Amino acid sequence: MAAAIIDGKAVAAEVRERVAADVREFADSHDGRVPGLATVLVGEDPASQVYVGNKRKQTEEVGMRSIHHGLDDSTPEDELLELIAELNADDGVDGILVQLPLPDAIDQDAVVAAIDPGKDVDGLTAGSAGLLAQGRPGLVACTPQGVMELLRHAGVEVEGAEAVVVGRSILVGRPLANLLLNASATVTVCHSRTRDLGEVCRRADILVAAVGAPRMVRGDWVKPGAAVIDVGINRTDDGLVGDVDFEAAKEVAGAITPVPGGVGPMTIAMLLSNTLRAATARAAAAATASA
Ligand code: NDP
Repeated sequence: MAAAIIDGKAVAAEVRERVAADVREFADSHDGRVPGLATVLVGEDPASQVYVGNKRKQTEEVGMRSIHHGLDDSTPEDELLELIAELNADDGVDGILVQLPLPDAIDQDAVVAAIDPGKDVDGLTAGSAGLLAQGRPGLVACTPQGVMELLRHAGVEVEGAEAVVVGRSILVGRPLANLLLNASATVTVCHSRTRDLGEVCRRADILVAAVGAPRMVRGDWVKPGAAVIDVGINRTDDGLVGDVDFEAAKEVAGAITPVPGGVGPMTIAMLLSNTLRAATARAAAAATASA
């Protein structure tokens, strides 16, 4: 039997609706103030411009405030750090998103590290990653959170499952491995030096590909009935394809995400959800401080 197709567009729309309702409630209980997300884009990379444009549009669609800073390609690092410090201190800003990658002349790690952990809605600071690794509450990277939301939505049992994550990046593989571990899966993380990758993948009840290699995960790497989540986005002559050979894998898997329309739409939805969480936590901390 062919796999159930997990519809990321529909799940993302549900998340956005939930966030929009919670934003209205937040405004009602905070004198009309709505959460604010600041986006920072350095340079004019066309793909980054599209990503930031989508983030801003969806921020406003759920009723939050979008604050944008577009900086010139040649902006020096200290000027960018100054802007981050201003946004950290700005009470109307609940989340700060610096669109990556930054120009080569700027130390990306230093910029990410400068973001107030309470406003780190991308979940990329060492503080956020550390909390996640320790299984403590914090802001979690958006794409891995989106993967967990899709698994929940598809009714996939994570506790006790064998989960295999292919890819160990700070953005996707590592935080996802920690989320799965925190949800009590038995987690294996694979990477470019993994031996017998196909053999390891075949053990997985939950198989996640986050590599950036078109159709690398073959149909015969998939355990019958497994949930297959494809994070990969690869531009090829056939258009956008994932890291999984979708046509072959869907004949074996129990559930599978398509590309496009799977994990992709979840990332911004979780960014909005993180911004609301950051706003709620900051408002609660401010109320406690003034009590
Ligand atoms: P990175 O390039 O940072 O990491 C890729 C990982 O894949 C590395 O850990 C690398 O191993 C591993 N890898 C590379 N080649 C192989 C191989 N032959 N066998 C096994 N492992 C391999 O990528 P990202 O994590 O940032 O992104 C991964 C994919 O997800 C990309 O296609 C990206 O476009 C997509 N993406 C999609 C998002 C979405 O919203 N849907 C968001 C973010 C990313 P090693 O560490 O050993 O080098």
